[in-house]
Amino acid sequence: MTTSSTTAAPHASRRPPVRLWRVPVRRVERVTPRMARVTVAGDELADFPAAGTDQNVMLYFYPDGVTLPEPLTLESARAMWSRVRPLTRTYTIRRYDGAACEIDFDFVLHGEHGLASAWAQRVRPGDQVIFVGPSPAYRPAPDVDTYLLAGDETALPAIAAILRELPAGARALVYVEVADAAEQQPLPTAAAAEITWLHRDGRPDLLERAVRSAVLPEDRTEAWVAGERSAVLAVRRHLLDERRLERHRVRPTTYWRRGQSGN
Ligand SMILES: Cc1cc2nc3c(=O)[nH]c(=O)nc-3n(C[C@H](O)[C@H](O)[C@H](O)COP(=O)(O)OP(=O)(O)OC[C@H]3O[C@@H](n4cnc5c(N)ncnc54)[C@H](O)[C@@H]3O)c2cc1C
Repeated sequence: MTTSSTTAAPHASRRPPVRLWRVPVRRVERVTPRMARVTVAGDELADFPAAGTDQNVMLYFYPDGVTLPEPLTLESARAMWSRVRPLTRTYTIRRYDGAACEIDFDFVLHGEHGLASAWAQRVRPGDQVIFVGPSPAYRPAPDVDTYLLAGDETALPAIAAILRELPAGARALVYVEVADAAEQQPLPTAAAAEITWLHRDGRPDLLERAVRSAVLPEDRTEAWVAGERSAVLAVRRHLLDERRLERHRVRPTTYWRRGQSGN
């Protein structure tokens, strides 16, 4: 099973050039009570190779007070790894606006114990954000009748990007597990999408049970699933072992692991 990034499918686009970006925060807002949107902006983002699809970057978190090389590039950052190595976390590009030179990242606020989550709670306009990427993730295959998208709130930014990309009228069954109704958000799409919000209320196997109940054509279904590792594994097992979907039609990605830091 793929862990922190999906394997490249035959139809995946060529990898865009990866570089290090350092841009200031322009805005911070709450999308929902437990989701913070951090908008970064800078002229250099005019060159950001956004593909209009699901893409992610690796955020770099340096210790406070560290002196960074100038210019800070992927090469100069790596050259100092023996002395200072940043902690990294992966986040999806929720929205890229080339005209405004802006990128939105949406952070699930899961508590003060998470490095990135705690940072997203305290970050302010003007603070610098350093990230490396982009990395392409899922691209929906064209020869598919039904797209199954399943994930928890960490997968919402990716689900939003995938839904935005699906062609008009494409059938999509979408299951999103969130804490409660206040965490639901609009997911605009031209696809014929049936979006089911699952409210957690302490139940561990919501996503798996929802996918089990889905009416899926046996062939020409492509499934994308992302979120907490055990939930992703359970859905993957069901789709491969019980539904007998072809292996290349099932695209699981672990986004986080309970009780374990980082990805
Ligand atoms: C390709 C990819 C794209 C991703 N895109 C996004 C995105 O757009 N938005 C987003 O919010 N996340 C996204 N994630 C998930 C995110 O990277 C992880 O949740 C990450 O662990 C958060 O880092 P942290 O520093 O806040 O917590 P960590 O320091 O990594 O973890 C601290 C503790 O918190 C727990 N934890 C981590 N995440 C969660 C959570 N969501 N809910 C409850 N407990 C948690 C861990 O198990 C650990 O016990 C993505 C991951 C991948 C691989």
